Amino acid sequence: MSNEVQEKRIAIFGSTGSIGKQALEVIAANPDKFSVEVLTAHQNDALLIEQAMKFNPNIVVIGDDNKYNTVKNALSGTDIKVFAGEKSLEEVASMDCYDFMLAAIVGYAGLKPTLNAIENGKTVGLANKETLVVAGDIVMRKAVENRVPVIPVDSEHSAIFQCLVGETRNRIEKIILTASGGPFIGRKPNYLVNVKREHALQHPNWTMGAKITIDSATLMNKGLEMIEAKWLFNLQPEQVQVVIHPQSIIHSMVQFEDGSIKAQMGLPDMKLPIQYAMAFPKRIKNDFPRMDFKKINNLTFEEPDVKTFRNLSLATDALFKGGNLPCIMNAANEIAVYAFLRNRINFLDMTDVIEKTMDAVTFIEKPSLQEYFDSDGEARNFAADLIKL
Ligand code: NDP
Repeated sequence: MSNEVQEKRIAIFGSTGSIGKQALEVIAANPDKFSVEVLTAHQNDALLIEQAMKFNPNIVVIGDDNKYNTVKNALSGTDIKVFAGEKSLEEVASMDCYDFMLAAIVGYAGLKPTLNAIENGKTVGLANKETLVVAGDIVMRKAVENRVPVIPVDSEHSAIFQCLVGETRNRIEKIILTASGGPFIGRKPNYLVNVKREHALQHPNWTMGAKITIDSATLMNKGLEMIEAKWLFNLQPEQVQVVIHPQSIIHSMVQFEDGSIKAQMGLPDMKLPIQYAMAFPKRIKNDFPRMDFKKINNLTFEEPDVKTFRNLSLATDALFKGGNLPCIMNAANEIAVYAFLRNRINFLDMTDVIEKTMDAVTFIEKPSLQEYFDSDGEARNFAADLIKL
């Protein structure tokens, strides 16, 4: 049987980030299968220009308006169209020139372009988990209405997605999200209070952008992933379980109602789930390092310490309570991580900021999209006031 995939026209929203750069490596290795139509960056004009010169897209967008002239001038000898600003990201997502959006912007900023891609009928490869945390009900409803596949890129969700292929008629009993535990596994609050930014940015198994690396260290990342999984796989909160698996070899598991468990395994390498999402439903050959079972003599599993890593219990509350609470939590977390990365608050303060914001901002059980936007703004202002940002 042929293993060929049709050439897909790819739009990478967030091409200058960790996921975006790895996606371009996958594309460079498969020029007959993928072409680059859109690249977007926020601040990193130099890298955006370099990527544009190499991949010759139809369009580039630089989020920061102040950098428009630099990018425009650098690309003046080419046919590449240059846009700038937040609105342009949304407008380009609504254009017809691409088939597949890789949603790789970090944080809430990824929500509107991704919604536009879905309304535009484009397949979405979703790395930006915050999109589903903020407004998962609306995003997934729009995806169903527009018959748009949302294919996960997050390694855990890609694992679950891969385990579910061929299982459409079978009920999921629960999913088991694995978590590496981050760099501070086993540590207690008296240690964590003194953790510095540089230390928290050292993840044992994955090299990622700064925000998700801090989220991994606080276990908020796993909390965000629980909510992401609920929406992606249409689950009840009690069907989502987290287990610490420090080796990051099993990327996640699905338990079916006969008790059988399927797991997806591999070395920790984001290029695999990125490639899987872009090529889906085909798998394509690659030369990524292979796992050797003879070298892996210890796969371990343990309960997360939610008393120490309280972000995970806050996220569990948000998962169960629903409404706009995950949106509020996400906004407060973005502000708290921003402040921690600038040495404005300590590691444990991040949790306090999130908890106080979740308690303070008005709860709405069934928010409209506008109410999600408003809740995000209100939560950001509240959290920023707490920190005196
Ligand atoms: P990075 O911080 O490395 O990259 C973020 C990208 O988003 C950059 O291209 C950045 O542009 C752009 N960006 C930042 N802020 C804005 C904004 N306000 N408007 C428009 N664009 C913006 O993040 P990652 O690649 O690590 O993560 C991206 C997403 O994927 C996150 O949601 C993360 O949770 C998720 N994810 C990441 C994984 C990983 O291994 N990295 C694994 C699983 C999920 P610029 O750099 O030019 O400023």
